[in-house]
Amino acid sequence: ERLEEGLEKTRTSLLGKLDRLIRGKDQVDDEVLDQLEELLITSDVGVKTTLEIIRRVEARVARDKYVSTRELNAIIRDEIAQLLLDHAPERPADFDAPLPHKPYVIMVVGVNGVGKTTTIGKLAYRYREAGKSVLLGAADTFRAAAIEQLEIWAERAGVPLIKQHPGADPAAVAFDTLAAAKSRGVDVVIIDTAGRLHTKGGLMEELAKIRRVMGRQVEGAPHEVLLVLDASTGQNAIRQAEEFTKSVEVTGLVLTKLDGTAKGGIVIGISNEFKIPVKYIGVGEKIEDLQIFDRRAFVEALFG
Ligand code: GDP
Repeated sequence: ERLEEGLEKTRTSLLGKLDRLIRGKDQVDDEVLDQLEELLITSDVGVKTTLEIIRRVEARVARDKYVSTRELNAIIRDEIAQLLLDHAPERPADFDAPLPHKPYVIMVVGVNGVGKTTTIGKLAYRYREAGKSVLLGAADTFRAAAIEQLEIWAERAGVPLIKQHPGADPAAVAFDTLAAAKSRGVDVVIIDTAGRLHTKGGLMEELAKIRRVMGRQVEGAPHEVLLVLDASTGQNAIRQAEEFTKSVEVTGLVLTKLDGTAKGGIVIGISNEFKIPVKYIGVGEKIEDLQIFDRRAFVEALFG
């Protein structure tokens, strides 16, 4: 139900456009398909993914000869669900599922303002609620405010935090955090990282260094690298994904602020375009407003 509320704007926009598209027409023809293509592109589904969906709908029309516009909604929903099934992997593990490593190390990356700190707080809360011990590492040392913000979220989530003074070496903070996690027997470590794209020496090098240091402390760490993207920025989020995936091995995407935007269509295209699964979605500012991404539930909430 939260998901449906969160996707309300995207849903209204998509269904409204679909409605206008088929109004006064009985049959799915080339004109309807052209308009559908435009509709999907303007709904931030992405060009490549839009063309795939159109091809699928075309194939259905070719097979069934006559397809009424009344059926179009159901067909699009089926095809999008199938596309998500083909390209997005199974639903990520629940927070109470056993973890493959101890400590399980998650590194969180993304540009400032996308909701990175909030997402870390939400994840920490969910793991803790699920009975796991959590430790946060404040490796965005560039801004004092970033450390303070993370401290606020650590407190809300009821989990401890390792920090140093502003300006400290981010890799040293990550190192200390993993050392502490090992000695305390912590289950989950979540490392925050800087989010400005232009740093002295470059953000990507900084992230690479943090990774190397973590790998020396804990075998295979980081086990998960989550890229946080603000869904409401549409194509900007796609560009950020391009930028980060070029230099960082991202293992999962988090799309935030789906609740405030009509651009939720981005969720359909992005994992298809980058071959990286959407693992979590943010549907509000509160600590509970994070969901494990479930493509079936997503399609249901979108097209009902
Ligand atoms: P950071 O700079 O990437 O760490 O971003 P923050 O975590 O500080 O979040 C920036 C703003 O986005 C804050 O006002 C958050 O409350 C808001 N925010 C984060 N996630 C969500 C979400 O899923 N939905 C909504 N509506 N707001 C969010």
